[in-house]
Amino acid sequence: MDTTFRRIFQVIDGNKKAVGDGFEVTSPMPGPRIRQLSPFLLIDHIGPMTIAPSDQPLGSPPHPHRGFETVTVMYQGVLAHRDTAGHQGNIGPGDVQWMTAGAGLMHEELYEKEFTRQGGTLEVVQLWVNMPKKDKLAPPNYQDIRSAAIKTLPTPDGKGTIRVIAGSYEGTSGPATTFSPLTMLDVHLAQGGEVTLSLPAAYNVGLYIVKGDVLINGNRPATTKQLVVLGWDSPNTQITATEDSVILVLAGEPIEEPLATYGPFVMNTNQELVQAIADFESGAMGKFEDN
Ligand code: MN
Repeated sequence: MDTTFRRIFQVIDGNKKAVGDGFEVTSPMPGPRIRQLSPFLLIDHIGPMTIAPSDQPLGSPPHPHRGFETVTVMYQGVLAHRDTAGHQGNIGPGDVQWMTAGAGLMHEELYEKEFTRQGGTLEVVQLWVNMPKKDKLAPPNYQDIRSAAIKTLPTPDGKGTIRVIAGSYEGTSGPATTFSPLTMLDVHLAQGGEVTLSLPAAYNVGLYIVKGDVLINGNRPATTKQLVVLGWDSPNTQITATEDSVILVLAGEPIEEPLATYGPFVMNTNQELVQAIADFESGAMGKFEDN
């Protein structure tokens, strides 16, 4: 076995921001230190935040997307989703929603009604995943991935688990289908647990620390809400948990195409952005009957 480790490029703190009317978000990307980790464009960590009991669910009211996928990984609480392509559903702890915006849609992401009535803790990581140029105008799609559909592997030392959301890891495939080759893993390590992840050397790899304290490659500390960006010189990355930790592993083949972004639209050229705005304003991305 190759005993070298990937070089560590950067350990990036998140910036706080508000999203919609109900989400307290910390986001390490995009930001001044990293624009993208292709094919991954954005990491928004909602909470953990306390939702007081209420009859009025908050969240992110209707807004459009075009040209990429939103991936919502649930840790605590329940969200309700609906979009103008006709998809809707509730997602709770352990579930993943993989939504393809493609040619464009409007969607709404709110606290689920009954969860709002009772109140509780909400914690969610939402990722934006780019689509290759040839697929950007694909029809919208919705993969509603239940926790039970995500296979879980034990780590070799027995002190952790690896949930394979997308791509494959050591022969186990995740349920999500993707437009470009990528691997997404939800790694849970108990204090003292250690794992060496082997991922294709040519992949971009980021470790987002959802919770805990870890040492990367035996010497570089990283903590809650930091993004560790790794290099391409080796397949291997070692993670040692110095306390109970959750790490979202984002690995993928870079999409080597120009990036043009404007708010909720991610295209390849400015002209395509102008078209996206025009299509949104003309109602071509759909509308909800009740808004
Ligand atoms: Mn959205």
